Amino acid sequence: MYDVAIIGGGIAGMGTAARLQARGLSTIVLEAHGQPGGCAGYFRRNGFSFDVGATTLVDFGPGGVGGELLESIGMLPIEGDALPGYVAWLPDRTVTLHRDPALWSRERLKALGDTQAHRSLWLLLDRLAGVFWRASRVGVRLPIRGLDDALRAARAVGLDGLPLVRYLSWTLADALRARGLGDDRALVGLLSMLVEDTVHSSVAEAPLINAALGITIRGAGLTRARGGMRGFWHSLIARYRELGGELRVGCSVERVEGQGRSYHVTTRRGVISAIQVVAAVPARLAARLGPEPIAEALAPFLRRDANAVGGAVVVFLGVPDDEVAGQAFTHHQLLHDYDQPLGNGNNMFVSVSTPGDTASAPAGFRALMISTHCKLDPWEGLTPEAYRARKHEVGERLITMARRVYPELGRGAVVREVATPATYERFTRRPRGAVGGVRQTLANTNQHAIPHDLGLPGYWLVGDSTWPGLGTVACCLGSRLVAAGVLAEGSRRVRPNRFPTARARGAAHAIRNAH
Ligand SMILES: Cc1cc2nc3c(=O)[nH]c(=O)nc-3n(C[C@H](O)[C@H](O)[C@H](O)COP(=O)(O)OP(=O)(O)OC[C@H]3O[C@@H](n4cnc5c(N)ncnc54)[C@H](O)[C@@H]3O)c2cc1C
Repeated sequence: MYDVAIIGGGIAGMGTAARLQARGLSTIVLEAHGQPGGCAGYFRRNGFSFDVGATTLVDFGPGGVGGELLESIGMLPIEGDALPGYVAWLPDRTVTLHRDPALWSRERLKALGDTQAHRSLWLLLDRLAGVFWRASRVGVRLPIRGLDDALRAARAVGLDGLPLVRYLSWTLADALRARGLGDDRALVGLLSMLVEDTVHSSVAEAPLINAALGITIRGAGLTRARGGMRGFWHSLIARYRELGGELRVGCSVERVEGQGRSYHVTTRRGVISAIQVVAAVPARLAARLGPEPIAEALAPFLRRDANAVGGAVVVFLGVPDDEVAGQAFTHHQLLHDYDQPLGNGNNMFVSVSTPGDTASAPAGFRALMISTHCKLDPWEGLTPEAYRARKHEVGERLITMARRVYPELGRGAVVREVATPATYERFTRRPRGAVGGVRQTLANTNQHAIPHDLGLPGYWLVGDSTWPGLGTVACCLGSRLVAAGVLAEGSRRVRPNRFPTARARGAAHAIRNAH
């Protein structure tokens, strides 16, 4: 009997497992794929290592949300590069999205307009970001479901931040309209790209506070690990195993039964029993796996969010160094047309491995990923030939579009692969291949987000379909809150002599220390 079984070895599941293991609990991670990582994972081809989704780790420096994860499991800082920022290529100009706050303050006024209205908008976004990044770092928990949560949230936001809570009912478009900036094409174009990437939403619908966090994500720090996500996962898994954690790959969970005192997890490799369970898979999968009360509690959320999902297409290229020469930054985001809907290349992200990072690419070559959002239905119900043709067409289109940054891109590529929603469905099991959590609106985030605890004792949900949403930073915060919940639940159940083993005494000690 394990203290905790974790279903899914993505960043949310592995983060939760490592934290609990570090606190002395016995944990097992059950991962369906042949290796952990999920949407933040990697694959290898001809000496290259490509990131399948996330290419950057957000807020992993000391004091950051991800930094806190590393610290709490006794892991050294990530070996890699802190990105100085990246370049946004708008149809009529480029804007350098500096990480450095002073450089960014100057650049945004120079590139996007220096009126009183522009200054006032940036000031508001900065204030919101300052307060709510701080709240995230101290572990604010939403949705608020009791006095304890409310007090915790008030403390996290702080006295100076309380007046900003009124913006919980604003969208980003409300803030633009209030300053007469709703029709500023370049500004709205840039903000649209940033919110689509970080909260999967549009300027019209994105909740203002979530948008402010997304727009300022560079300030929180973007790190590309040496060897890309493969480098990160090697270090994290090594640490988890060193702590005594058990990771079983190729071990798909088929169902979970139990009533709150203990659970039986049926996998394709046998049944595992655990006192508590963390479902670190998308909510739709968690509902399918059971137990029944979880499926029932999730049903209204899943009905509400059925259409708020989207996918991604990613091109992976292994290219000679000289095809990506001539740019100071390794990351670029491109918008091609202000008047066309975003996605399918109109808003795409290009990430290149760092020069000299031979853990990502053989010497003289670089690993490059181009990603863009897409709708799911055009990829569904296709014949194999139609699917292949669409995949080829979109791959060519994205490479052609990326030649705005790298004119010779792809001509000498030694690896060329394309991932679609069907790829994500196959390798990460995400239903319909939907990635990145729901498209955030006022109706489905924060107080309306899917909580980590659905009322069945000892059964938890974590990952990018629960609060606070998508991205590595959100998953790390979720893992912190769920680990604290598991420890608290464990402490309620601990009775003298109930756990006679040395391992369990360690666990009980860890639980006491957690409070
Ligand atoms: C193209 C793209 C680019 C992105 N870029 C960034 C970025 O640069 N920075 C950033 O911070 N975020 C980025 N993201 C978002 C980020 O990758 C995800 O939000 C995050 O990785 C989700 O983690 P998760 O643990 O919630 O879910 P997942 O990564 O989906 O992990 C769930 C795991 O559960 C496993 N699983 C599923 N079903 C079962 C089962 N029945 N039994 C056992 N295991 C199961 C899956 O195989 C998977 O490993 C990007 C995402 C995509 C798709």
